[in-house]
Amino acid sequence: MARRDLYEALELPPKASASEVKKAYKRLARKYHPDLNPKDKSAEERFKEISEAYAILSDPDKKKKYDSYGAAWDSGGEAEKGWDGVRFEGFDFNGQPQGAGGFSDLFESFLGAAQSRKQAAPSQGEDLIYPITVTLGEAFAGKKIRLTIRHTVSCKSCGGTGRIASGGRRPCRRCGGTGKIGLSKGPFSFAQPCPSCHGTGADPGEPCKECGGSGAKEASETVDAAIPAGVDTGSRVRLKGKGQAGSGGAQPGDLYIETHVQPHPLFFREGPHLKVKVPVTFSEAVLGAKIEVPTLSGGAMLKIPPGTASGQVFRLRERGMPSPRGAAPGDLLAEVTVAVPSVVDEKSKELLREFARLNPENPRSYNSSKGS
Ligand SMILES: [Zn+2]
Ligand SMILES: [Zn+2]
Repeated sequence: MARRDLYEALELPPKASASEVKKAYKRLARKYHPDLNPKDKSAEERFKEISEAYAILSDPDKKKKYDSYGAAWDSGGEAEKGWDGVRFEGFDFNGQPQGAGGFSDLFESFLGAAQSRKQAAPSQGEDLIYPITVTLGEAFAGKKIRLTIRHTVSCKSCGGTGRIASGGRRPCRRCGGTGKIGLSKGPFSFAQPCPSCHGTGADPGEPCKECGGSGAKEASETVDAAIPAGVDTGSRVRLKGKGQAGSGGAQPGDLYIETHVQPHPLFFREGPHLKVKVPVTFSEAVLGAKIEVPTLSGGAMLKIPPGTASGQVFRLRERGMPSPRGAAPGDLLAEVTVAVPSVVDEKSKELLREFARLNPENPRSYNSSKGS
């Protein structure tokens, strides 16, 4: 690492005073400390640079030399170079008047948060999603289902803690029951929650053999669920607590059964509504008729008026899908299609020719109306 100017490293003008040096160091060290910038290589480099600059400039003798000779100050043979050679003494972080806790509390709170995120804090288990496929008829009527699921469950042997307490409430061996351990990193010495007992101070015991210390085990479970009438693709039924086990005694996640509704050969679904095509004969369309329309709950009768055209849609109120939320059911939209008679016998053909003579209308009126 090419050594920068030491004052520059502390973001100070050349020959800044000792108190300015100290102030700058505290500010920058707090900003770039590796524990506050995990895995940030550039912050680590910066921190070393700051610490190194401070190591020299905080020493009145060395500062004097540096102020006089610049980078060549130690060419006389002092070996104090680089991170490993840096020593800090008599620097009291707690002495600084900055708010309630001071410097070490700041670090502790940061570290505490980082620690608990990593291992200690109880966290709710993950949710699981189980997809199931149902027919449109099943979605219409609702369905009771039984599923065998695989999920993790809290280990019974250790109560989900991953540890078996080794008799009585002895203090934690690592921290002596204080729940904190001192940590020195470079110039800093501060307390952090004991990783063995997670700051409780109690003996964490031995890792549980049953679950390998994880506190949870993989298990199969049979669950019953009611799929409500009216579900659509993407609808979810929640089974509370049937997801993955929580850690550290926290609640398990939930299990969501997600329905996928198969397409139906007759009915086309549009939200709560169902569409169906109903063929009628030529004479039914011309003369009007009472016809049967299929629904998902048996048949329904529909009266079509005389002169019904192919493609005309009739709405049967509330004969569509039920609502899983208790709202009114959707409608059934019946589209009439006129079936062309497959006439073969001469008698019928003669009658149709007669019909055409009596009704000389032209359905392709766009030809005759042109230019009129
Ligand atoms: Zn401990
Ligand atoms: Zn266990």
